[in-house]
Amino acid sequence: MTKTRSTLPPLVQRPAPALLSIVCPCYNEQGGLTEFAARIKDCLAPQGQAYEIVFINDGSNDGTLAEMHVLAQTAGNITIVNLTRNFGKEIALTAGLCHAIGDAVVVIDADLQDPPDLIPTFLAKYCEGYDIAYGRRTQRNGDSWLKRTTAGAFYRLMKHVGPVALPENVGDFRIMSRRSVDALLRLPETHRFMKGLFVWIGYPSVAVDYIREPRFSGKTKWNYGKLVNLSIEGLTSFTTAPLRLTTYLGFTISFLSFVGGAFYLVRTLVYGDEVQGFPTLFLTILLLGGTQMIALGVIGEYLGRVFIETKRRPLFLTESVTWSDAGGARVTDRGAPTVASLNLVAE
Ligand code: UDP
Ligand code: MG
Repeated sequence: MTKTRSTLPPLVQRPAPALLSIVCPCYNEQGGLTEFAARIKDCLAPQGQAYEIVFINDGSNDGTLAEMHVLAQTAGNITIVNLTRNFGKEIALTAGLCHAIGDAVVVIDADLQDPPDLIPTFLAKYCEGYDIAYGRRTQRNGDSWLKRTTAGAFYRLMKHVGPVALPENVGDFRIMSRRSVDALLRLPETHRFMKGLFVWIGYPSVAVDYIREPRFSGKTKWNYGKLVNLSIEGLTSFTTAPLRLTTYLGFTISFLSFVGGAFYLVRTLVYGDEVQGFPTLFLTILLLGGTQMIALGVIGEYLGRVFIETKRRPLFLTESVTWSDAGGARVTDRGAPTVASLNLVAE
């Protein structure tokens, strides 16, 4: 059973973070970064909130990295984590979290689909004492009907089979306290289904509603193939329910075949033996063959996961990490990533 707020200790108010880190994974986002940095400044500068932007260049093959360096010099307070290749958003995000040094961390997409104007509301929730405040999309203006429907179906499925209920229509856009970031970074798995991990750590969380905008520039990196893969990833990294399901399926089919066997035995004894029923035989073989393949596939999914996890490879490799101070000057070294954790980071 999930705990409700009333059963948890009361929230303790806290001051605004001395430094807020804005973590932004980027893959071919050249066109939107300047606007992004400007929008972040517009919503944080008026309240005098000190912040750093942590850009992760996830192996972009356009001018994203150059654009980041220009911004680092002009806007200042920018960390650039340049990964050696494209590792995918979930890993890029983790790389950013490893290098963020703020007391609170905001995770946000580069394409302005997550409105930066929401960050002050997140900050207010943080000050109320919540460890996590996440954006919940009320309308998905930028998404197709098919994407909305399939996403809805996925959340419902996860709710029924997963150990923690994933909040619906929630992405990665959120604020996190230092302790929740550190907790996330202590989770050693290679398969990082962030949406699930955010919930799994269990710190006090609250939803903030917003309207999801269409992309400011560039194209989405997702296609349905990737989304289906992410859903399978979500399922298999959070629950072994599919394995249990195949066991049930096996029992059900065995039971049915037993009943069927008894039926045919009685029928043959009463009416004699007539050679008939070729189509039924054919279909039964197909059905059983198919079911066995599915069962093997499910077992294979988990076995594959065990295989990958046992390698204990670092999650990502960085080509370079650079920092700029408030004036845009390059800071040569700000030390190793803050996390005293595992082998998540390899330089
Ligand atoms: N992204 C990334 N690595 C990838 C794919 C995406 O860092 O391999 C970043 C991308 O630059 C963007 C964010 O993840 O800042 C969300 O990606 P996108 O907008 O394509 O996803 P959508 O909003 O369509 O779900
Ligand atoms: Mg997007």
